[in-house]
Amino acid sequence: MANEIVFSRNHIDNVKDLDVYVGNGGYSSLQKGLTMAPDELIELVKASGLRGRGGAGFPTGMKWSFVPKDTSKPHYLVCNADESEPGTFKDRQLMEVNPHQLLEGMILACHAIGAKTGFIYIRGEFVGPIQIVSRAIEQAYARGYLGKNIQGTGVDVDLAVHPGAGAYIWGEESALLNSLEGQRGLPRLKPPFPAVSGLYASPTIINNVETLANISHIVNNGADWFKQWGTERSAGTKVVSISGHVNRPGNYEVPLATPMMTLINEFAGGVRDGHKLKAVIPGGSSVPILPAEKCDINYDYESIQAAGSMLGSAGMIVMDETTCMVGVARNLVHFYRHESCGKCTPCREGTDWMFKILNELELTGGQMDDIDLLLDITDNMDGKCFCPLGDTSIMSVVSGIEHWRHEFEEHVRNGGCQQRAQNGH
Ligand code: SF4
Repeated sequence: MANEIVFSRNHIDNVKDLDVYVGNGGYSSLQKGLTMAPDELIELVKASGLRGRGGAGFPTGMKWSFVPKDTSKPHYLVCNADESEPGTFKDRQLMEVNPHQLLEGMILACHAIGAKTGFIYIRGEFVGPIQIVSRAIEQAYARGYLGKNIQGTGVDVDLAVHPGAGAYIWGEESALLNSLEGQRGLPRLKPPFPAVSGLYASPTIINNVETLANISHIVNNGADWFKQWGTERSAGTKVVSISGHVNRPGNYEVPLATPMMTLINEFAGGVRDGHKLKAVIPGGSSVPILPAEKCDINYDYESIQAAGSMLGSAGMIVMDETTCMVGVARNLVHFYRHESCGKCTPCREGTDWMFKILNELELTGGQMDDIDLLLDITDNMDGKCFCPLGDTSIMSVVSGIEHWRHEFEEHVRNGGCQQRAQNGH
């Protein structure tokens, strides 16, 4: 399928080697893209309909156009490669398999926004990708694809890797910038937004790995080529990470608007051991859980939103009928409680409180009132947290109670999780 379309070079043996990459058309977009006026490049990306592939889905070309032109400050491009969303593992593979594709996209993006310097902020635990991308940068400098006067175009771009240090919150762009500056990685108050005042208080564009990996292909092939896949508002292809109770977990690049059940049954080989599908988290742990009966939809931004969830980071977690939904909420809230940076009260206290209640429900059954108490806590967090981490930490609880309230009630009546008791946990 689409794996042979946009990211075809990912399937060429050893494409991370520069000679192999260039031999298969790599860096061929630079002559065209770097001799275009920056505004022309921005318009091309706008016309392609490419939306940010990190989670928010903001139109990429429009984001680039927010960089002010009337400033003497330097501009920066930052690649957010701090992929940490549970269920999402596509950026890691994109960097491991085809690092030059990312660098090529970054060089073009730097030209579009007037940046001479770009940073690739890679999750600290990604030791392999850090080494692979760093090596690719060395190779690109040695051949004149980075540095001064790239390929004789007069464009200068320097790129550097910055390893993260292991906190989920650094995937939030303003926390990432603080971390990159060497400060404690806490989110910043917005506005001002990074496009106006970002890294070192200078105009900064932050794009996800997958977003940038699309750019050279759009420059080479045009906006209409990219728009041949997907829908008008969800254009192009998308790498979807499928994990959980499926026979063939993995990353699959497909046209947006591919049916979700096709993703599960054909690409991922169906639900394991002949079990029935119970639920899907369609876009990483920060989005609402969909019950099986709502999964007969197309995989695009609008269809998933209409069904009550979000495409998010496209990390699809598939669950079969053996899954305890109280346990799911407990696991996910445990994660957010651990990763809360503690800066604001609703998130710091709310995640801890939710976890304690879910823990009681799971282990001893808690009380019937706990279920509404959980909803009350989520209501006091929703829209009241300083950054998206807090707001999204409630998703599994709210959607879990909405669709499987009876399971929460059974936990109270049974004095805890029967499945856990049967399994001897
Ligand atoms: Fe920190 Fe959570 Fe508040 Fe975000 S919502 S600033 S992660 S405490």
